[in-house]
Amino acid sequence: MYWADTQDSSHPRVLLVDDDEVNLILTSAALRERGFIVSEASGGEQALLALAQELPDLMVLDAVMPGLDGFTLCRRLRATPSWEYLPVLMLTGLDDDASIERAYEAGATDFFVKSPQWSLLAGRLRYLLRTARTNLELMRSRARLARAQDLARMGSFEWRPGAGGLALTPESLRVVGQALRDDDISLGAVIRLVPRRLRGGMCALLRQVWGHATVLDADMMISLRDGRQRVLHVEAEPEYDDHGVLFGYTGIVQDVTDRRLIEDKIKHLANFDSLTGLPNRRQLMWRAERALEQARRSGHHCALLLIDLDRFKDINDTLGHHAGDELLVEVARRLRSCVRHSDQVSEVTIDAMLARAPRTLEAVGRLGGDEFVALLPEVSGEVDAAGVGQRIVDVMREPVVLGGAEYFVTASVGLALFPRDGLTVADLLRNADVALYSVKGSGRNDLQVYLPSLASKGIARLELESALHKAIERGELLLHYQPKIDTQAGTLVGVEALMRWRRGDKLVPPGEFIPLAEETGLIVPMSDWAIREAARQLHAWHDEFGLLTHVAVNVPARLFERSDLAERVLDATVLHGLKQGSIELEITETGLMKSLDDVMPALKRLHAAGVAISIDDFGTGYSSLSYLTTLPIAELKVDRSFVSELGQSGQSSAVVAAIIALARSLGLRVVAEGVETAVQMTELQGLGCQLMQGYLFGAPMAPDEVVAWWQQASSRPRLGLAPAVTPIALAHAPLHAAARNVDEGVSGNDAGRLRAHPEVAPGSTGPTSAGTPLQGRSPLSR
Ligand code: C2E
Ligand code: CA
Ligand code: CA
Repeated sequence: MYWADTQDSSHPRVLLVDDDEVNLILTSAALRERGFIVSEASGGEQALLALAQELPDLMVLDAVMPGLDGFTLCRRLRATPSWEYLPVLMLTGLDDDASIERAYEAGATDFFVKSPQWSLLAGRLRYLLRTARTNLELMRSRARLARAQDLARMGSFEWRPGAGGLALTPESLRVVGQALRDDDISLGAVIRLVPRRLRGGMCALLRQVWGHATVLDADMMISLRDGRQRVLHVEAEPEYDDHGVLFGYTGIVQDVTDRRLIEDKIKHLANFDSLTGLPNRRQLMWRAERALEQARRSGHHCALLLIDLDRFKDINDTLGHHAGDELLVEVARRLRSCVRHSDQVSEVTIDAMLARAPRTLEAVGRLGGDEFVALLPEVSGEVDAAGVGQRIVDVMREPVVLGGAEYFVTASVGLALFPRDGLTVADLLRNADVALYSVKGSGRNDLQVYLPSLASKGIARLELESALHKAIERGELLLHYQPKIDTQAGTLVGVEALMRWRRGDKLVPPGEFIPLAEETGLIVPMSDWAIREAARQLHAWHDEFGLLTHVAVNVPARLFERSDLAERVLDATVLHGLKQGSIELEITETGLMKSLDDVMPALKRLHAAGVAISIDDFGTGYSSLSYLTTLPIAELKVDRSFVSELGQSGQSSAVVAAIIALARSLGLRVVAEGVETAVQMTELQGLGCQLMQGYLFGAPMAPDEVVAWWQQASSRPRLGLAPAVTPIALAHAPLHAAARNVDEGVSGNDAGRLRAHPEVAPGSTGPTSAGTPLQGRSPLSR
C-alpha cells in the first residue's frame, strides 16, 4: 500500500495503458496539461513491466487490447498483494454495457467511456484518487483498531437476541481464547464458558439488563479449554430501531485478568498485613465502619476486642525478631480459630472477586506490633462477646513452639460493645483500649469488659506514665530509709531503702508508681539510680556522723536477669568507698519464682561478689520451698501479713514459726516486716525471730530524719551503745506518726513537723501513739 504514501496529490502519477497509439498520445497530453504525471504502456504486458518498475497512484486501462487485455490485467492486479488496491479506471466503448459489467467484475474501480472530453476524464480521475485515499484511511484505521484491540485483549461484538444472536469479531474470539467453536458462536455457548456456579448469576444479570434496557457493564469469569480461568470485562450499550424498540446490544469485551490480579495485589498490600495475612488497621477500620452501619440499621450489637500479647517484647529481645515473627503468625492463626470463619483468606483470589455472595465482615486483624483486633459484627450481647474474648485468652495460654523450644505466652484482652460502650469505631477502640490497660495493670493474661469507671483510671495512668518518665530526669525520685533492728542486741543492723516520688507537693508512695515502672521498663534506670543513691547516702552518713550500716535496695526480678547487676553493685560500692557487702538486694519471692532460671546466674555472681540477697515478702509466693536449698541467699523477710495477724490467729504463728525453722536449717537470717505493736514483737521473739522492721521502731524516713532518729536513740546514756547501735525505744512514737503521714502523701518536711507534735498523730494500732509504754516492754529497756 506504499503507493498511497508517495503520492503527490497535486500531481498524481497515472499509468496510461492503450493499444491505440493516437489515443495514447492525445490522452496523455491532455492529462499532462491538467497536472498529471503520465507514463504510457501500449499493451497489457508492457503495463506489467511498468508497474514492476514504479507503482503509479492510479491506472487508466483500455478494456479491449490484443494480447493481455484490460480485463485480464485488472484481474491479475487484484490478485497481486501490492497492487490489489491500485485504483483502476477502465476505458470502454460507447454503449458497451457488457464491457462495463465485465470491468467491474474484473475489479475495476470505475469505468469511463472513451471520448475526447478530457476535463471530464481528469475530474473522474481526481475523484477516484480521493475515494481511494479515503478507503485507504478507513482500511488503515480498521487495521489499527484490530491491532489495538488485540493488544488490549479486546474485541467487539453484537448481540441481537431476536435475529442472528451473537456476532463476535475475530478479536473477540481471540479474547475468549478461541474457546468457542466456529460453528457454535452463540450466547449459550459463551455462557457455557462461565463456571457452573457463576452461571446462574450471569444469566440473571443479562436478563435484568435486557429487561430494563440498561447499559451492560460487568466482569465475568470464563474457563478456557486448558482449564485456566480468565476475567472478562464486558461493556455494551443498548441499540434501538427507528421505532425506539430495543433490538440488541453492541459492545466490547476485554480480558482484564492480569489487571484485576494486579489491582487485587495492590489492594491486598494496602489492606492486609504482610506477615500474618490478616487485615491491617486500615482494612479493619473500614470493616468496623461497615459493621457499625449494619448494626445501626438492624439494631443488633457489635463487639470490638483489643488483644495484646503480654511478653512479646521479651520474646523479641531474647529470641530475636525471627522468633517474634513466628510467634505473631501463630497468634494470628489462633485468633482466627477463635472467631467464626471469615472471608479474609480468600479475598485475593479471582473466585472471591467474582463471587457475588454477601460478605461477612467478621474479622480478626493486626493493628501493628503485637496488637490485634477481633471484630464481632453481630453478637447477642456482652456474654456472647465475652465468651469469644475468654476463648482468645484461653487459646493464647497454650504453649507456643518457637525455634524448636516451647514457650508460654499470654494475652490480655479488652472488650467494648456497640452501642453500649461507644457509637463510633474510634470510641469503641478507645474504650477497648481502656479495658485492655486495666487488664495489664492488674496482672495481665485476662479479659476485661469496658466499664466507664475504668476510663478515668486510664487517663490518670497515662498522665502518671509520662510524668514518671520526666521524674527520673528531673531528680524527683528520692529514697527513704527504714531501720532494720536487732531487737535482742538493741542494734541497728541496717536500713532498707524505699523509693518515693516527689510530685509537686506530694510524696507518691511506691505502690502507685513501681508497678507502672515495671510495666514500662522504667524500673531498670530507676533501680540503677536507687543502687547508686543508696551507696552515696551510706557514704555521706558515715563521713558526717560516723553512722555505719548496711543498706538494702529493692530490686525487681527483671533486673536480676541482666548479666551486669553484680558489676553495677560493685561499681557503686567502690565509687563511694564503701565496704564490700554494704549494699544488699531484696527480691520478692514471687518475682524470684517467676523467673528462677533467668535470675540464677545473677544470684550466683552476686553471692560471689559478697552482695547479700534477701527474699522479700516471704511466705506469700505459695511456692514449694525446696528451691531455697539451692539458692545463694542470705535472708528471708517474713511478710507483713503474717506479722500483723500474730497473736490473733494461730495459723500465722504457725507460718512464722515454720519460716523461722526453715531459715535456721538453711543458715539464713530471718527478718520480720511490719512490726507495729509490742505484742507482735514479743510474739516474734518468742518464736525466735530477733531481726525486725516496722513502725514500732521507725517508719521509712528521709535521710536527715534517719540521722536525727539515730542520734536521739544513741544519746540515751543508759544504753551506752556504740554509734552503730541504737536504742530503739526512743524512736517509736513520733516516728510512727510521721510514717503514717508519709504514707498518706505528706511530704518529708511535714512528716518532720508532725514528729515535733506527737499529739497530732492519728490514732493507730498498738500502744505506740503517745507516751512510752513500749519502753517497759522492749527487750532493750530491760
Ligand atoms: P516492701 O519492700 O515490702 O517494703 C516494706 C513496705 O512496708 C514499705 O512500704 C514500708 O513503708 C511499709 N512498712 C514498713 N513498716 C511498716 C509497718 O510497721 N506497718 C505497715 N503497715 N507498713 C510498714 P512502701 O515504702 O510503701 O513500699 C511498698 C513496696 O514498694 C515495697 O514493699 C517494695 O516492694 C516496693 N518498693 C519500694 N521501694 C522500692 C524500690 O526502690 N524499688 C523497687 N523495685 N521496689 C520498691
Ligand atoms: Ca523490701
Ligand atoms: Ca516486704
